[in-house]
Amino acid sequence: MQPQVTSLAASREEEQSSEPPSRPRAEEPPSPAPDCPAASSRDTLWNDWRWQIRNRIRTLEQLSAYLPGLSERADLKAVISKYPMAITPYYASLIRVPDLSDPIFRMSVPNPQELSDPPCLSEDPLEEHVDMPVPGLIHRYKDRALLIATTTCSMYCRHCTRKRIAGTRETAISLRRLRQVVEYLQAHPEICDVIISGGDPLTMADAALESVLSAVRSVPTVQVIRIGTRVPVVLPMRITDALVQMLRKYHPLWINTHFNHPNELTSESSAACGKLADAGIPLGNQSVLLRGVNDRPQVLEELYRGLVRIRVRPYYLYQCDLVRGVEHFRTSVRAGIEIMEYLRGRLSGIAIPTFVVDAPHGGGKIPVLPNYVVSMSPTHTVLRNYEGLLIHYPEPGVETIPDEQTELHGTPGVWELAAGKASVIQPARTLRGQRREKIRNRAGLDATGFLFD
Ligand code: SF4
Repeated sequence: MQPQVTSLAASREEEQSSEPPSRPRAEEPPSPAPDCPAASSRDTLWNDWRWQIRNRIRTLEQLSAYLPGLSERADLKAVISKYPMAITPYYASLIRVPDLSDPIFRMSVPNPQELSDPPCLSEDPLEEHVDMPVPGLIHRYKDRALLIATTTCSMYCRHCTRKRIAGTRETAISLRRLRQVVEYLQAHPEICDVIISGGDPLTMADAALESVLSAVRSVPTVQVIRIGTRVPVVLPMRITDALVQMLRKYHPLWINTHFNHPNELTSESSAACGKLADAGIPLGNQSVLLRGVNDRPQVLEELYRGLVRIRVRPYYLYQCDLVRGVEHFRTSVRAGIEIMEYLRGRLSGIAIPTFVVDAPHGGGKIPVLPNYVVSMSPTHTVLRNYEGLLIHYPEPGVETIPDEQTELHGTPGVWELAAGKASVIQPARTLRGQRREKIRNRAGLDATGFLFD
């Protein structure tokens, strides 16, 4: 099948509307200034994604109109000219406090710290440009490829890994380039999973996006298509019935979205994810660990509980990449490990993402975990759980029943577990231990765990 897309320019035509803008919303947003588009418009347009895109906050003047406290901030001009700004009125309305203490503000409003330039940072730390056999197509892992379908996003996240691309020119893949991509995929049947990313592919009009999807789907060896998008978070009204009807033609199709903070969980974002899930599209979430946004474990616990509630599976938590312009967002790797330690045991496995460092020099994603393997011997692996309980796991073929075989002198330690001389070391008086004790002491409890009168 030949790809049909011409360019995003075609899709932009759909966005033209002469209607006035719409209302402010959100839980206690700051009051927009009277000349802010959001202050003077009608409700119907608020839910029109094209209106939201057309009325993105793009200049310091527009930002000051929405957040009057920023009118004196001429220093932001230099930041915006280097790294473009775009904030949908919807996302701006989620700002509760107009300063850097607010996570939505921090992720969307430019910050002069973006111009700080420590030598460990680079424009493209993942070296995507040298994994591009066709411009725009990143082929790093053997069986997967990532297609940059557009450089446009509805909101330019200040922490973006592709700051070098996103928003610098708002354009989409050309027909000629898409043909080259298809030819490459045809010549590489080992690629069975293609991620359509950007920029944000869901900023493309339905027809333009469908051209990309149908082109990729035309390659018989491509089994799975994934879309990476922040639209359900920053422009949820884009998830229209028509879009969903179109997407469901391209199953198996997965969508990974990008929620970073519980304040992004709104009735609108929930409805958007619900529509996609109802269309049989499995949803995952890729968060980035961001200083001052979500680097407290309780924040991510709340986010992940909320995501599971709206049928989005937390998939990855990324350590912030070594990208120029994001130094002020970086945390230590230790902070991420501490968070993972906190989450395990508090949340179900389906609510816990994998914490990864996307390695510089194109090394790919490296999972980083707290250490749960305490020791190993030829016969036993000693593990610890989230409570600090130490337990050994006998390797296949080990037949001893340690507690009955060996007389211990004193309290067992890790060596005794690894040697098979004891099987467990329990921490004293955990809540779970106390509950188990009560259950054990119940009269009438038999070996199956049932109570019989
Ligand atoms: S939506 Fe994605 S690509 Fe666009 S600015 Fe945000 S993180 Fe970057």
